[in-house]
Amino acid sequence: MKKLIYILLFLLILTSCKQLSTNPFYDIIKEYPHNSSLLNEYEKIYNETNNIVYAINKVNYPNFLTPNSSNYLSFKINNIQLVNTNYKLSKNYIPKTLVEITNVDYIKRTNVIMMIDQNTLNAYTLLFNESLLNNLNLIVFSSYRSYEYQESIYNKEENNFIAAPGASEHQTGLAIDISTKDTGLTEYFDNTPECIWLTNNAHKYGFIKRYPKDKEHITGYPHESWHYRYVGVEVAEIIYNNNLTLEEYFYQYIIL
Ligand SMILES: [Zn+2]
Repeated sequence: MKKLIYILLFLLILTSCKQLSTNPFYDIIKEYPHNSSLLNEYEKIYNETNNIVYAINKVNYPNFLTPNSSNYLSFKINNIQLVNTNYKLSKNYIPKTLVEITNVDYIKRTNVIMMIDQNTLNAYTLLFNESLLNNLNLIVFSSYRSYEYQESIYNKEENNFIAAPGASEHQTGLAIDISTKDTGLTEYFDNTPECIWLTNNAHKYGFIKRYPKDKEHITGYPHESWHYRYVGVEVAEIIYNNNLTLEEYFYQYIIL
């Protein structure tokens, strides 16, 4: 009798081990950094979403997609920088890749020097040339802004929503505000052919519409149809095709 119990017990252990090893979740999560004491929580979310990166991030960083005004330092993973109301740039962060926008066709005011990241300018040049072929009249209203400049407009503009110093993507040199001469940075831009074309084409050049409508609870910023952020074509395509924000891209594609 005792022998039989041992045999049964052995079989039970064997089948549960087999179950463990044939569950694809355990094979998949092995490839990713995780906390093994949280496996059950990861598995639950993985079963709901089939997205292992999302499952791990959701458990490890439950508040990541909730904007507030935390003072975490902005970070860069896979060469993509995240700047928002939670993750801020330091006062002395100045991109090393800044160049001047010298093509006066691109910019609204020619009496000020506008700086931008070199790769962003290269990508914008391609976008701009294509926009001309479509008879569109795009103008860059704003590009790189220093921490000090952001601080000065933040203190001045009490009624409008202006990003706090350190929380503006413009400090990266990778963000540009694009509109038309007539509409400027207002909601009147939203229904122009320029806005519609940008919405549908900017990703082909590596730009994303950074603060989309109905995603304010994730980005922490009100909808801005004119604010574009350069992330490179590969990432921009993923974000565009899956209707994500940059925050969601980090959450669903990159282990934080
Ligand atoms: Zn902007």
